[in-house]
Amino acid sequence: MYSYCYMSEICSGYLKIPKRQMPSPKKTTNSQASTAQPTRKNDNPVLNESKISNYFGENVFGPGAQKEFLSKSAVTAIEDAAKHGTPISHKQADEIAQGMKEWSLSKGCTHYTHWFQPLRGTTAEKHDSFFEPLTQDTGVEKFSGKSLVQQEPDASSFPSGGIRNTFEARGYSAWDPSSPAFIMEKGGVKTLCIPTIFVSYTGEALDYKAPLLKAVSFIRKAATGVAQYFDAKVTDCNISLGVEQEYFLVDEKHFQLRPDLMLSGRTLVGSAPAKGQQLEDHYFGSIPNRVLAFMADFEEKAHKLGIPLRTRHNEVAPGQFECAPQFEEINLAVDHNSLLMDVMESVAEEHGLKVLLHEKPFKGVNGSGKHNNWSIITNTGVNVLSPGSSPEQNLQFLTFFINTIKAVYDHADLLRASIATAGNDHRLGANEAPPAIVSVFVGDTLENVLTDFEGKKDAKAGSKAAGSIKIGHIPEILLDNTDRNRTSPFAFTGNKFEFRAVGSSDNCASSMVVLNTIVANQLVQFKKEVDEGVKASKSAKTEDVIKTILRGYLKDSKKVIFGGNGYSEEWVKEAKKRGLNNITTTPAALEAYLSKEAVNLFVKNNIFSHKELEARTEIRFESYVLRLQIEGRVLNEIIQNYVIPSVIRFQKRLADNVNALMAVGQSKAQLKAQLEILSEISALINKLHEDNRKMTNERSKANKIADAHKRALAYCSKVKPLFDSIRESSDLLEQLIDDSDWPLPKYTDMLFAR
Ligand code: ADP
Ligand code: MG
Repeated sequence: MYSYCYMSEICSGYLKIPKRQMPSPKKTTNSQASTAQPTRKNDNPVLNESKISNYFGENVFGPGAQKEFLSKSAVTAIEDAAKHGTPISHKQADEIAQGMKEWSLSKGCTHYTHWFQPLRGTTAEKHDSFFEPLTQDTGVEKFSGKSLVQQEPDASSFPSGGIRNTFEARGYSAWDPSSPAFIMEKGGVKTLCIPTIFVSYTGEALDYKAPLLKAVSFIRKAATGVAQYFDAKVTDCNISLGVEQEYFLVDEKHFQLRPDLMLSGRTLVGSAPAKGQQLEDHYFGSIPNRVLAFMADFEEKAHKLGIPLRTRHNEVAPGQFECAPQFEEINLAVDHNSLLMDVMESVAEEHGLKVLLHEKPFKGVNGSGKHNNWSIITNTGVNVLSPGSSPEQNLQFLTFFINTIKAVYDHADLLRASIATAGNDHRLGANEAPPAIVSVFVGDTLENVLTDFEGKKDAKAGSKAAGSIKIGHIPEILLDNTDRNRTSPFAFTGNKFEFRAVGSSDNCASSMVVLNTIVANQLVQFKKEVDEGVKASKSAKTEDVIKTILRGYLKDSKKVIFGGNGYSEEWVKEAKKRGLNNITTTPAALEAYLSKEAVNLFVKNNIFSHKELEARTEIRFESYVLRLQIEGRVLNEIIQNYVIPSVIRFQKRLADNVNALMAVGQSKAQLKAQLEILSEISALINKLHEDNRKMTNERSKANKIADAHKRALAYCSKVKPLFDSIRESSDLLEQLIDDSDWPLPKYTDMLFAR
């Protein structure tokens, strides 16, 4: 018997697979539903069977397919592996592989792939054929348990931060049975995709999924320990995640004419349109027909892949849209988000559109994020972040609520680091985006509840809580009180926290590893303090010990709570007074991963080894530099080969015109405007040329720096500022010259053309 997830000889003990991934489907009677389930649609903590079957679309190796292609015992084996982490035997793995193969062949697949998420934005696949030739004219379709469980892709070109030298190219991908296999259809070709983790020969994780599974396993255990204070029947907790994904759509024809969009994902030059988002008429406005057709098609394909997409709408900026699935178990939700981005891009192409997932594709226009809605739900079906009708008496809620706030306060820099990318730097703190200061929004009602709680005003006469810390399931009332503060990076929204600062192109796993680890670590600390407190004082009730500890936490942690306008200058000043950091650049933000506290936190809790942490941070410094390197090169090219030649052509026409007019006797005074434009153009060309040269110089200086961290800092402080001044000159030129001479599609074309 071997661990179903990977080869035990390489990784034994390195990763405990978490138990059941999704809240177990259970039938609820009406009376149960009225108590255990809050009334709001999206708030349903228990996913019932009919919903589950909707989620598993026809291209997912889900319950329906299993029944047909697997024996009863194999179905149970998969379910137990996913639910309880029970290992799958060689024999069962062989049978499951056989079933998967038959199922995918019946659906028209010829190839399979281990699907994983390496440490760069996208997903990776290497397709193998089921077909094995036997003789010259015969062959057989084969797929063994071994091929299902483990593969050895040549991994030398995936980033490893120095963990794996290129001569030791081996990396292993290993099956994650908690995330169902699916069939991906692209360009009419269907491939069986098996979700896997990706590790090096020496056992270090080289992907996003492996540490996420570890962090989730950690928080499930930690949350269960704390939830048991309130209900002894709780034996497990699930972490749920719903990811709202923002994106832009542009016409593919425009996209193809913009080397900056094609190579760097964002426009490096481009003057703001006359009509921007000032009117905010796009937000929730009607969706253009062509976009709607794309959305419907994309949703259908997503549903087939088991991604439970529910909402779609326009976003704040013109050309910007959003979609959101129903929340799911976090590992599945992260896989689904990666898959969703992939599907979105390929479906858009079929509609002549291009999806822009960059955090800030257009200057001066709203950026895109990925709101991570997160909560903890017990296996008894209770969302511990549901405040109920009287949060002041709901000690279980207050416990999880305050512990989360404390974790965010204590580790704000790590959360900031988790979302740091070159793309997100343009968004954080910029127009219509959460600031780089990590703060928590809880809404007035809950802020008052916390103030009263801290001041011991919580014990009301006749309180339901008297004599017991079990509050029961109270219907929601708070949803409308926690008004929507769109400016907060970390907001409590009714019955969940929403981490909004995550970048739209990012893999959510990075931020979710940090969030789950810091909260789990905090819950473990809390439980330790409570148990010690109870032991120390024989007479005190657990409830009172809990309250005293939580009050102690609030003293400092409440500094992170902020309900005002996060975009304002006053907040930047106020945050400074409160001692909250405002880290505006990626190279500075990433340093948090290398701090003593971070190393302690991750290593002690077995999320990352010290080596893994260093390697990951190195990869992120490198990715930052790589992004800026590409942007720098593309910008050089755009200025030298597109902008300057076009401007000169216009200038020549103007000069010819001036000459012609002078020849027929017009005076210089009469040609004042034209002469002025000519000089302005010359001055701007000189400035552009000079800055462009400076930028090339700074780039080559920075490239010589061997240390990735220092190289990133140099790119940030020496190279990047020149992008802005180059852009400024180019945008001024764009405003000066004839539209028909401008060599690139303009913002108006891209944002408003449908
Ligand atoms: P918003 O007001 O932010 O648009 P929605 O209710 O539309 O909020 O939810 C946004 C996302 O949050 C959806 O993906 C939804 O499924 C998810 N969500 C709702 N409840 C929870 C929960 N308890 N845990 C995690 N995600 C949730
Ligand atoms: Mg939201």
